[in-house]
Amino acid sequence: MDLLNTLVEKGLRRELPTREEALAVLATSDDELLDVVAAAGKVRRQWFGRRVKLNYLVNLKSGLCPEDCSYCSQRLGSKAEILKYTWLKPEEASQAAAAGVAGGAKRVCLVASGRGPTDRDVERVGKTIAAIKEQNEGVEVCACLGLLADGQAEKLRDAGADAYNHNLNTSEATYGAITKTHTYADRVDTVQKAHAAGLSACSGLIAGMGESDEDLVDVVYSLRELDSDSVPVNFLIPFEGTPLAKEWNLTPQRCLRILAMVRFVCPDVEVRIAGGREVHLRSMQPLALNIANSIFLGDYLTSEGQAGQADLDMIADAGFEVEGTGTTTLPAHRSEVAAGGGCGSHAGGASVCGSGGQGDSVEAGCGSACGGCSGHAEEAPAPVQAEAGEVRPDLVAVRRRGAGTDLAPNA
Ligand code: SF4
Repeated sequence: MDLLNTLVEKGLRRELPTREEALAVLATSDDELLDVVAAAGKVRRQWFGRRVKLNYLVNLKSGLCPEDCSYCSQRLGSKAEILKYTWLKPEEASQAAAAGVAGGAKRVCLVASGRGPTDRDVERVGKTIAAIKEQNEGVEVCACLGLLADGQAEKLRDAGADAYNHNLNTSEATYGAITKTHTYADRVDTVQKAHAAGLSACSGLIAGMGESDEDLVDVVYSLRELDSDSVPVNFLIPFEGTPLAKEWNLTPQRCLRILAMVRFVCPDVEVRIAGGREVHLRSMQPLALNIANSIFLGDYLTSEGQAGQADLDMIADAGFEVEGTGTTTLPAHRSEVAAGGGCGSHAGGASVCGSGGQGDSVEAGCGSACGGCSGHAEEAPAPVQAEAGEVRPDLVAVRRRGAGTDLAPNA
């Protein structure tokens, strides 16, 4: 296929595909799907070999959010029966993080529900970061606390944070239909603040909310413009009790096409399969490792993932290896740029420093990886070009173990 040859060549050169090429990936047929995966796999292996980075979520504060993100189980008015608790103590968070690190995670993602942190919250998270780093040498810590005020990114950096997550989630055109309490521009601003402070920017999307192919391409191009080092791709977990509970639009094949499109547009960044992996990719998860180079180990913010050991077995069975702490995730040209706090990592591409938006998480909502947000059904965006996905509420398990409970975490 000429399209795939072109996309591989561009991916190996870090050159931006045209919008038409990105849309064409989403429009490929099931007969072409293995060729699409193989082509994306060539780009993935060029920049990340056969390594899989494991990330581990710690939900520092769950539920009770004043924001109304339609996809989020922690949103204002959510009827989802998720765990609800306020800030974990630093030692509790550190204990949860240690389980993930012992399971092979090299990054711990500290997530808190809410619009954004107070300065006191930032101080509290700083103590948590110190506790985690003291006990786990070499671990990366990413904070995901929502919208940042001036100076907060710098405080988190000084406290030892390596990265900040805030997802754009969807296109600018669609954003107002899924959230009313803050704007797309607010999200972009926070990603830019994190970037400017020298934190590695982590920002991604949620697929399956009824968006069009054009919306998906728009948000991924915006993420490239923002120069995100990590792009979590969440697949909507339609939680009962949230506005998007009936949005079962995804098939495993659709998820693979979306991941491939992200890989071609952002060839040299960490593409992470985030919330909804088990629910929507199902038995196709190992195939997706040929495209993405990163996953979450174990459970998500408010939902349970497959057993951590099953994640590790899947990686080994598919012929991949867990990335160790001694290995730098990003290719040299990106990690050097990240260390310098600048952009321009997409040589030959159309990336524009600081020109775009920002965001990351699904459960993904705030800037992190909540695993399942949801909102008011009447506010849901009208499905456009949505595929019929299998309705599988039986695969959605509300998290009942780990942080905020007396039960051991899944890692
Ligand atoms: S995504 Fe974050 S900000 Fe939005 S409702 Fe969920 S917890 Fe709140």
